[in-house]
Amino acid sequence: MHFPEPALEQEFQRYYEQRFGWMMRLAIAVAILFYGLFGILDGVLYPDFAERLWFIRFVVVIPVLLAIAIYLFRQGPRRWSQLLVSLGSLVGGLGIIAMTIIIPPEHTDIYFAGLMLVAMFSYTVFRLQFVWASTVGWVTVLIYNFVTVLYADPAPGELLTANFFYISANLMGMVACYEMEYDARQNFTLQRELETEQKRLDQLVLQLDEMAHRDELTGLANRRYFFEHFQQEWNRHLRFAAPISLLLIDVDYFKNYNDTYGHQAGDECLRKVAATLSDTARRAGDFVARIGGEEFVALLARTEAEDACLLGEKLRWQIEQAAVSHSASRVADVVTISVGAATIIPDKERRLEDLLRCADEALYAAKANGRNQVICRRLSEESASGTEDTTPENRSDISAG
Ligand code: GH3
Ligand code: MG
Ligand code: MG
Repeated sequence: MHFPEPALEQEFQRYYEQRFGWMMRLAIAVAILFYGLFGILDGVLYPDFAERLWFIRFVVVIPVLLAIAIYLFRQGPRRWSQLLVSLGSLVGGLGIIAMTIIIPPEHTDIYFAGLMLVAMFSYTVFRLQFVWASTVGWVTVLIYNFVTVLYADPAPGELLTANFFYISANLMGMVACYEMEYDARQNFTLQRELETEQKRLDQLVLQLDEMAHRDELTGLANRRYFFEHFQQEWNRHLRFAAPISLLLIDVDYFKNYNDTYGHQAGDECLRKVAATLSDTARRAGDFVARIGGEEFVALLARTEAEDACLLGEKLRWQIEQAAVSHSASRVADVVTISVGAATIIPDKERRLEDLLRCADEALYAAKANGRNQVICRRLSEESASGTEDTTPENRSDISAG
């Protein structure tokens, strides 16, 4: 059993180690305990041979198992765990084979049962993988036969009977072990597929989120995102009683632009306007969005009316400086914008719609006043409806700055 790609197989081995490593360590501790406890049997059944049996148990086998256990418990990544536990299992089996030679031949079958226990541990409890468990199993069967023929002089039929049991125990163990590993591999594949699917979903969610928040034409935040953000900022400024400003920006005579240069050129123009706006309003806390056809906003966190007005003028000036020809404009020969600015310190009596309406009125005034200009308003604190014009008297001062 193997995954065809080596990298995948390696990944599976790491997964297996993570999933079953603790079981292997626990199993080897249990095996040591069992191996030691059976020493009681040596003393009870064969006091005459006990010393030699104990030598095998406590001087040869258990120290080897202990060394493996200590290694497994202490190491971080246990790359050799399959090999080492297989070795432990083999040593445990060989120990029992040696004991069957030491005790009187007529009692061999009592200790032979121990080999079945070792096989059980090998194929299932130790969580050895199929290749390792089968190798250990069949090597032990072979050695058992060699040793028995060479040293035990078995009665006719005795070895045959033993092999019937031993070989069938190994075959059953192989089936069980194969199924366990097959399941582990299937779980691993499923888990991997789930992870891949999860990653794909996360990616999609990000993409959807992006799509829900971005304006496709300009790459700016879209109307929906703007209102989400506006509400958040409104609440934040309400808590801190800080001034917040909103600039509503509208391209002048844009219908004429489309009619003269075509819709595609109109789109290109909107992209340029968007880029200029977002390049200019780039202080932390500035948020630029496209909220309609040729309408944009800039929301300015913690910004007083004077600064908002200055930025509005800077935006107007930058758009003019970009010098995108507009022969059908009645205010200039390049593309221009009108800006309505409004500022407020949010309080419980106001809603964000008030700020929006105030900026809209300022924009309307800018349009009515001849376009290509900025009108600034501040919602005064005294009356809920009162506004005050904060547009600087001399605009040319600002454009120069
Ligand atoms: P004003 O100076 O009063 O703002 O005049 P205006 O022509 O800009 O205003 P109006 O609202 O009458 O026209 C807006 C035009 O914007 C209408 C539409 O053709 C155009 N427009 C809206 N969305 C898009 C778009 O996505 N791409 C293009 N190319 N044009 C658009
Ligand atoms: Mg418009
Ligand atoms: Mg317009």
